[in-house]
Amino acid sequence: TLFFIGAINAFICALMMIGSRRLHPPSRPALLWAGTTTITLGAAMALVASRGHLPDTISILLANTLASIGALGIYQSFRLLCLRKPRHLPIALVALVIVTAHASLGTSYDNHEARIAITCMMQFAMAALTLPMLLRRRGIDAPMPLNWSICVMSTFGTLNLLRLAAVIRQGVAVDGGGMLAGSVMQTVAITLYALAPMAFALAFIGIVNARIAGDLRRLAITDSLTGLLTRRGFHDRAALMLERSEGQTGSIALMMIDIDHFKSINDRFGHGCGDRVLRRFGRLLEDILPSRAIACRHGGEEFCVMIECGDADAARRLAESICERVRAETVIDGEHRIRLSVSIGVATDPFDGTGLDQLLTSADRRAYFAKDSGRGCVIADDDVSTQVRHARDF
Ligand code: GH3
Ligand code: MG
Ligand code: MG
Repeated sequence: TLFFIGAINAFICALMMIGSRRLHPPSRPALLWAGTTTITLGAAMALVASRGHLPDTISILLANTLASIGALGIYQSFRLLCLRKPRHLPIALVALVIVTAHASLGTSYDNHEARIAITCMMQFAMAALTLPMLLRRRGIDAPMPLNWSICVMSTFGTLNLLRLAAVIRQGVAVDGGGMLAGSVMQTVAITLYALAPMAFALAFIGIVNARIAGDLRRLAITDSLTGLLTRRGFHDRAALMLERSEGQTGSIALMMIDIDHFKSINDRFGHGCGDRVLRRFGRLLEDILPSRAIACRHGGEEFCVMIECGDADAARRLAESICERVRAETVIDGEHRIRLSVSIGVATDPFDGTGLDQLLTSADRRAYFAKDSGRGCVIADDDVSTQVRHARDF
């Protein structure tokens, strides 16, 4: 009965894993391996459950071979889940050895101990090889499902080792009809096998789900064209920067940077070229800015930067150096050589406002002033006339 329940459990879990393969393409190979392996384990349990109704070659020989080979599949699935290369050749060789070993044991009832010992050894080896990969946490950024996988593997490995020791020491009781006689150890082991597919599927699907959530989070905060933060990602990080700066000396500057006459680049060289210029500009901004700055593409051809700096004057000087670097740069796209310039509005906390919204409003307003003042300049003050003069002098 336990084997029968285990088989049904395995088939349902395999369907769940194979059915989830499209949710996250990078995890597809791992899910397919895990699903197929779970079907193999389910088939093994179903065949054992049908013992007496099927020829021994199927219900004993094939069932035990599938159960041993299943352990290899679980190991391979966890390798793929931990972003390691699959090991096809060693796994095929070990599978061949297992098939040969089971074939040589045949279907004789006298060989039950050897058969069970092989399966226990395989499952213990699988757990022992998988555990270090999980403990290294490579490629898995999800504490809950990872800890669950570690817990499942440790329990599974230990119980198989205990069962192996018990089989070697005490042998396996077989009743007159050749069926395994019931015992506490036997019941515990078979209950464990029946539950194992569910435990593996929970671990697998938990880790894949956490990966999907992580990828979505990253997508939501990364601009796909420039690789800079999106407006949403920027607002979260900027709010954090402002919060951390409270009570500290120095100030936080916010710059609104708008590429001048960008529309004409699209109009003259095409939208594709415009995209490449935006990408190049994103990289240029990353090169110019110190690593402590946070930068985003706030929309279209507008970029936003937040940085801690000594005072409003230091912020203005940094913005001017950005203006200068951009002006000195030539973007080469095919046969086109494109010169850029930017207009920058700067606002500093606490002089021009304290919250992010106030700083954004001030910086945005000043970026407009910079446009009105002839573009290619920095405005860091509401007294535009002195600013423009200053900007033209640097
Ligand atoms: P100004 O100096 O006043 O800022 O002029 P501008 O042409 O840069 O500004 P305007 O707001 O008139 O036009 C912005 C252009 O940016 C229009 C739009 O087609 C282009 N743009 C916005 N997002 C993208 C994008 O993702 N790729 C490309 N290629 N163009 C974009
Ligand atoms: Mg513009
Ligand atoms: Mg604009």
